[in-house]
Amino acid sequence: MRKCWGIILAFIVLSSCKKEEKTSSKNLVQIKAEKPIPKIYGFNLEKFDVLRDTIKNGDSFGKLMLQNHVDYPKIVKIAEEYKDTFDVKRIKVGKPYVILKAKDTTEKAQIFIYENDRINYTVVDLRDSVQAYTSKKKVKYVQREIAGVIKNSLSIDMDSLGVDYNVTLNLSDIYAWTIDFFRLEKGDEFKIIYNERYISDSIYAGVEPIKAAFFKHKGKPIYAFPYVTDSLKNIMDYFDQDANNLRSTFLKAPIKFNYRLSSRYNLRRRIAYYGYKVRPHKGTDYAAAIGTPIVATADGTVTESRRRGGNGKYVKIKHNGTYSTQYLHMKAQKVKKGEYVRQGDVIGWVGMTGNTGGPHVCYRFWKNGKQVDPLREKLPSAKPIADSLKTDYLAFIEPIKSQLDCIEYEEPIKEENENLITLNQENGTNQNQSYND
Ligand SMILES: [Zn+2]
Repeated sequence: MRKCWGIILAFIVLSSCKKEEKTSSKNLVQIKAEKPIPKIYGFNLEKFDVLRDTIKNGDSFGKLMLQNHVDYPKIVKIAEEYKDTFDVKRIKVGKPYVILKAKDTTEKAQIFIYENDRINYTVVDLRDSVQAYTSKKKVKYVQREIAGVIKNSLSIDMDSLGVDYNVTLNLSDIYAWTIDFFRLEKGDEFKIIYNERYISDSIYAGVEPIKAAFFKHKGKPIYAFPYVTDSLKNIMDYFDQDANNLRSTFLKAPIKFNYRLSSRYNLRRRIAYYGYKVRPHKGTDYAAAIGTPIVATADGTVTESRRRGGNGKYVKIKHNGTYSTQYLHMKAQKVKKGEYVRQGDVIGWVGMTGNTGGPHVCYRFWKNGKQVDPLREKLPSAKPIADSLKTDYLAFIEPIKSQLDCIEYEEPIKEENENLITLNQENGTNQNQSYND
């Protein structure tokens, strides 16, 4: 499968960076406007009266059928004989359905179509001998190539390019270990290749996972390509242009989105509240709205989940013999002592318990029993690509990488990128931020 894709792409990019291809692929999506065919779900609309609705509270398959003049034995037959295909007890409120009725005075339902999701549907054919089957709408994949430059924030700039928010989330997940998206700089560049899904040629139905990405942060380019390293367990990771795993054992931040780095680890911090005396800050503060989920930055076992003094409600996780992490001032904890958590699991919510000037999580990073600055630590990466796969990987990424390289930016790139966007410099005094310990 992966190979096929590689070959197809190889053909596309064989004559690298062709101009005529670029014009339509940028902000594209040209959907062919075809003459409407009087068909839905394969049925000729001219032969039926169509009733479209969604399942309401109190609706049941039996009730809908009786309302549409279907005989009771047929309803029972579907419920009993086609349970594996269509479990009538499992219809859900809010799901769309269509009833095709006879165009005569009986107005009897002939066909019942239930939409399991945007793509899959179930057909119950009530004509003659009753039967039920499932089917899929035709899905078309349209490849999009995006290139942008950071002017505001990743989500704002992606949005202005008309990119689905799920792609933004996907991108921030891929780079969660290598780039702190809230410390981006103006002028940072990104490129993405991904597929959009369309049902029946024109109805937008979301996106597929990112096929390839490029991010240039502080002048350093980091590519990302998905690659299956264990086809038996179907383990897929994103790797860079040198086959390094983009995943690290630790996430960059304990909050996934919408935070502001409000105070860094600083041993010489002076605070007005304490008469400008030195009050070392051994944590990293992430300000976020109360109730924002806090996630474990790595797999581990919860060693503490309690409330104590200035720390307020907090959780401490032991990851291995070397590292532990701690998360302070929670509104509430979600995990208990002794629980095993996975990286990215929600362990609590941002609050203001303990000594704090505003809602934030104070993230403490312990290495061999001492608190260190996680933003300065060189943290271990996750499993690299096995040597036996490396050649295959590099061959696989070659055409996609050239495709990425060929995507043009809409505006010329300026060479100055000194502007920090969201980072507050925290090297000196810190008056209005949280003074917690
Ligand atoms: Zn703190």
